Amino acid sequence: MSDDSSAADAGADLPDGVERRTFGGRERFSTRGARVYGEPVDADGWRAWDAGRSKLGAMLELGMDTGLVGGESVLYLGAASGTTVSHVADFAGPTYAVEFAPRPVRDLVGVAEDRDNLFPLLKDARDPESYAHVVESGIDCLVMDVATRGQATVAVRNRQFLADDGRLLMAVKARSEDVTAEPDDVFDDVLAELDSAYELLETARLDRFHADHLGIVARPK
Ligand code: SAM
Repeated sequence: MSDDSSAADAGADLPDGVERRTFGGRERFSTRGARVYGEPVDADGWRAWDAGRSKLGAMLELGMDTGLVGGESVLYLGAASGTTVSHVADFAGPTYAVEFAPRPVRDLVGVAEDRDNLFPLLKDARDPESYAHVVESGIDCLVMDVATRGQATVAVRNRQFLADDGRLLMAVKARSEDVTAEPDDVFDDVLAELDSAYELLETARLDRFHADHLGIVARPK
């Protein structure tokens, strides 16, 4: 696995539409949009982005260089009920949100009612052909948080949607691959499989916010 020690201090640029603001005396990342999960909203309509409930939020909080600038097209895999993808849609362009469990998708549809650029898809991310007719090609950013076995395989299969200069932003949950294995061994296996389709740019353990998770930034090969 690559060295992750520099990520926390790197202090990457923030995308347009993401700001550091003070909530309850503490500076936090925030985006501007309708409230989704009971998060604090300030007088200007900025919603605190809870890194403890969002792997992408944790990646930003740890200073990973996501390459996000704001306004990009996004394919988000593992959207659940929309906690993180709601923040993404607040600053991104068209945001396709794939989730295969019907119950959270019902909530996600409600989140999308307040966001014209958010498109929920009740689909299985292991079967990208099932949404290839909906999702545009040349997507700028593929965000992944599927927490299921075979996370690298899902990333490789969905490479087809990404622009050649696009980014993969991925959170890997070690325990979803193997509950008994050492997380570092799981991460090594995931990175080895990703190598067939992606060039690794940065990794960082997300444990400060999410136990046994690895954040990955990569670009297509
Ligand atoms: N990303 C969400 C957030 O931050 O708000 C949380 C995602 S949760 C950790 C993982 C989600 O991935 C679950 O809702 C699960 O149903 C979904 N998932 C797992 N495997 C999937 C698959 N093959 N296709 C689509 N969704 C999947």
